[in-house]
Amino acid sequence: MQSRAAIERQFRRFRFGLFVVWAILLAIIVAWSVRSARERALSEVMQKAGETLSVQTEILSGVLDKYRLLPPLLSRQSSIRALFVRDAEGNAQALDARRIAESTASMSAAMDVAFFFPDGELLANARGSLVDRAEGLPELIEVALQGRLGRAAVANRQGERTYAFSSGVHREGKFVGVVIVYVDFYRVEAAWALSARRIFVTDKTGTVFLANDAAWRLKNIADLRETAESDRYLIDGRFERRLDLVRGLPLLEWDLHVLADPAPVAAARLSAASIATLVGLLAGMIALVVLRRNEEAIIKARTDRATALRLERVVRDRTRALSITNQSLSQEVEVRREAEERLRKTQNELVQTAKLAALGQMSTALSHEYNQPLAAIRSYSDNALRFLDKGALSEVSGNLARINGLVERMAELSRTLLSFSRKPGASVGPVPLGTIIDEALLLARPRARAAGITDIRVGDGVSGLFVLGGRIRLGQVFVNLVNNAIDALSGQADATVEIDARRQGDRVVVTVIDNGPGVDPAQLPKVFEPFFTTKGVGEGIGIGLSIVDNIIRDFGGTIMVDNRPEGGACFTINLRAAEADVAGRNDHTAPAAEAAI
Ligand code: ADP
Repeated sequence: MQSRAAIERQFRRFRFGLFVVWAILLAIIVAWSVRSARERALSEVMQKAGETLSVQTEILSGVLDKYRLLPPLLSRQSSIRALFVRDAEGNAQALDARRIAESTASMSAAMDVAFFFPDGELLANARGSLVDRAEGLPELIEVALQGRLGRAAVANRQGERTYAFSSGVHREGKFVGVVIVYVDFYRVEAAWALSARRIFVTDKTGTVFLANDAAWRLKNIADLRETAESDRYLIDGRFERRLDLVRGLPLLEWDLHVLADPAPVAAARLSAASIATLVGLLAGMIALVVLRRNEEAIIKARTDRATALRLERVVRDRTRALSITNQSLSQEVEVRREAEERLRKTQNELVQTAKLAALGQMSTALSHEYNQPLAAIRSYSDNALRFLDKGALSEVSGNLARINGLVERMAELSRTLLSFSRKPGASVGPVPLGTIIDEALLLARPRARAAGITDIRVGDGVSGLFVLGGRIRLGQVFVNLVNNAIDALSGQADATVEIDARRQGDRVVVTVIDNGPGVDPAQLPKVFEPFFTTKGVGEGIGIGLSIVDNIIRDFGGTIMVDNRPEGGACFTINLRAAEADVAGRNDHTAPAAEAAI
């Protein structure tokens, strides 16, 4: 199982790798989007510039066409031809010529209209001085002389630029003069000035002849491209030639340029770069969050698994330890059980011993109990023999009946003795209290009589009560208690022993009282202790009451001793009440059956 630190290290490496891949991808995507945005924006810019170029080409061509046709038309008019006729003094029609020139110029919106003699002398012109426009004049006259349309671009130092068209004037087959129309580009340039794009015209030498930016006029295009003016048209740090859209005007040998404005290209590139970067960053962040969540989930799962394994191990160890403890406990239980078994056996033996001791105590009285009827039987049988000799049969039968009664009494005593001396069983069940007390007294009475105690009473409450117990053991209890009372009452004149019982709910309370000296109050708590005796050597061994206590507790009852206020001891036994065993005498009530267990 990997540790948390190892997993985190692994994820850190993975994150770094992913970051490198992401950075490369981001660079590629940004570059690609910038490039495609540039191309798109550039082609759009170019398309718009191309449209402007077409329109402006048309406009310029239209303007020039209009003025191109004007000189040939004028030169063919008779009124114009008539202007070149000198009078006798050699003066031309200068005033008329000026008027016509002016009206033509104003009607055609030309910059100027001029009439020249073949030698270059000015007949008249419409506007201002022609000194500055004289450039190219010989050529214009020369071409007109040849019968062709003369043309020349004219520029002066004041920055005035015009284009001149010339046509020769013939009169009666003779070349008499030239008509020159100067084109005014003011309107064209003014219209161009409204456009945001740079629009200009270069001649074949590369000089900017017309331009919507005054600063560009009459400068060389090559120089302009070098200057800061062209900064606006730099793409990727250099002048983008594609931005310079050119269309030739073959008639004039001019080129019309429209410079496309690359600003949208830069803006498109910038926004493409920003969007791509933002999207990349966002994707990176999402990936990072997802990765982080994933990492946390994996770490949590592994930590949980580790905890579960640890717990499993702990549980396994504990279970092993517990099963070992359990094993040793069950061994201990077994040892205890055996010890208890031994104890119980010993106790039983002790009970038996105590019982035999009680029997021993009673033996003298009991043997006397047998001797008395035996002596009576002898005398009855002797008398019967004598009555038989005399033939007094009724007397014989009376004696025999008495003998029979005495034998019956002896047989009952013998039966009770036999069952009392047998080993008791361990089971507990309903037993008749009255019968058990009667049997105990049958054994104890002879000894009582021997001790001069004749008043042993059994209360009326006893008969009919059933308690939970064992017949022989309960009999032993009463034999012991009565024997102890006899010991205490020995030699006392009005000695009485009384046994009574009453039912209290589900309990039966039995009292055994005497009117003897009672128990020394200091010794009251000790009387149930084993080997506690106040009797002399050979008279008592002090186990009687301890066995009584054990027997009663085995039945789920209690025994207490107290002194009566009027004198004498009072033993109170509390037993569980039972209902009469309607099925008849069972194991617990049958002396023979209990003894057999
Ligand atoms: P043991 O009879 O051998 O002495 P027990 O356990 O039967 O042993 O009795 C313990 C002691 O309790 C007796 O020695 C006696 O002092 C006292 N005792 C028992 N029953 C009576 C009684 N009815 N009156 C006075 N003392 C008694």
